[in-house]
Amino acid sequence: MSNQVSITIDDKKITAPEGQMLLWAALDNDIYIPHLCGDREEQDSSPASCRLCFVEVEGRPAPVPACTLPVTGGLVVNTRSPRVDGLVAAGFALLMSNHRLECRKCPANGNCELQRIAKARRLKLKSQNLPVLDRNLPVDDSAPGIIYDPNKCVLCGRCIRACRKSGNAVLGFTLRGFERVVATFDHRPLGESYCLGCGDCAEACPVGALSKQE
Ligand code: SF4
Ligand code: SF4
Repeated sequence: MSNQVSITIDDKKITAPEGQMLLWAALDNDIYIPHLCGDREEQDSSPASCRLCFVEVEGRPAPVPACTLPVTGGLVVNTRSPRVDGLVAAGFALLMSNHRLECRKCPANGNCELQRIAKARRLKLKSQNLPVLDRNLPVDDSAPGIIYDPNKCVLCGRCIRACRKSGNAVLGFTLRGFERVVATFDHRPLGESYCLGCGDCAEACPVGALSKQE
């Protein structure tokens, strides 16, 4: 069992396992830090790609992602500061600038990590300063029980890791930049791929991009 050490987050003293990534130590102590790509089960190899979990660490010159910050005794962290808030707001605005926002008919409505981040940080879901670029990609409902709407994908990669863990590895990232998308090999619809329909990808998706169909 890991050694428990004392740390301070937002002036609150807590204990956490030494070496655990700070993101999970904070969440376990009811301190919310926005995050999308982090996966508790693979916390030692977080891709740190969503750039939303920044925190200020005493003694460090710049904010760091909490998902890659190992807990050490005496660590002092603040989850909010003008710099952190600015980074999170900018990252969130960029995500929402190519997100198809239609919460009312979205399967994730009410259980969506984007909605949670917006509420926690008082950010607008609807992009304010950046033009919204809808990629207008086709929605894939070819696999029984699963709907994939790439227009709502935030490229967190959690479905890819879940699919790999299921032993199937049907999903992967493809293309680059604005075109980047989660897809099957050869961009085949899920129903024409080796997808087994286990639904682990939909379970892992923090937004409404991959969802289970009743
Ligand atoms: S993924 Fe979340 S923010 Fe996007 S439309 Fe669905 S509920 Fe709304
Ligand atoms: S489909 Fe969902 S889980 Fe997969 S990368 Fe997109 S947002 Fe993340």
